[in-house]
Amino acid sequence: MSDFVTRFAPSPTGFLHLGHAASAFHVWDAARRAGGKVLLRIEDIDLGRCKPEYTEVILEDLSWLGFEWDGPVRIQSEHFDEYEKVVEHLTGLGLTYRCFRSRSDIAQEQAAQGLPPGAPFKGAALDPDEESRRLSDAAPFTWRLSLDKCRDYLGPSFHQLAFDLVTPEGHHEIIKARPDPHGDINLTRKDSPTAYHVAATHDDALQGITHVIRGEDLEDAAHIHVLLQALMGWPTPVYTHHALVKGPDGKRLAKRFASRSLASLREDGLSPQQVRRLAGV
Ligand code: GLU
Repeated sequence: MSDFVTRFAPSPTGFLHLGHAASAFHVWDAARRAGGKVLLRIEDIDLGRCKPEYTEVILEDLSWLGFEWDGPVRIQSEHFDEYEKVVEHLTGLGLTYRCFRSRSDIAQEQAAQGLPPGAPFKGAALDPDEESRRLSDAAPFTWRLSLDKCRDYLGPSFHQLAFDLVTPEGHHEIIKARPDPHGDINLTRKDSPTAYHVAATHDDALQGITHVIRGEDLEDAAHIHVLLQALMGWPTPVYTHHALVKGPDGKRLAKRFASRSLASLREDGLSPQQVRRLAGV
């Protein structure tokens, strides 16, 4: 067996649809071609939207499609303490600050500064008295990663951050990481001790993932993942981003076929092979 390790990492915020199946087939095929391993990770850190019922059906769908995993299934909600340690570590390095703003506070401030909607957010810690006052009022906050502090901390290597991108056709390219458009990312959520970027990069490192294969909607995330990996001393995997499954009208399938879960296609009597054909893989 080669040292190639990849993973499929669905979020149980609903049932799987053809787009997820396509992703799982891409991941599985790449692992088999490389003679490597493939792991399953359930990314259920969003406690408001993820449901154990969805996880159950996801596991059934995947085993119906014929997938088997080369190791135990990792359920992220069982590991919040590990993600908290990452945030504590980054805080210990002086790279984070508490952010008490809501999304609409940020939108209003940015509009007042003449910035376009969705402009990268850049903030700083409140002054200590004001921060203590808010903390004693139990005001909700998130931990954010200060990009300016990261730049100072990493020095020249900040500008050398890069990752190896392999296109689905197998072409290699070194991509310079550009974390700036993300601004100061949230490391935690008001309702969860971790945000996606922290949990995903932590687990990729922990599970020894050498190749991340996922949809092109997550291509941008690699730019921030490379930064977190450099800060935490984790290796950077190779990234491949496959095209999303499109409907005949070229629209994203996820929305168009939102009501057609794999479970419902299965109930309609489709075979796993037919699902694979429909997913275009
Ligand atoms: N959980 C993410 C999703 O379902 C995938 C994250 C990843 O592959 O890094 O979209």
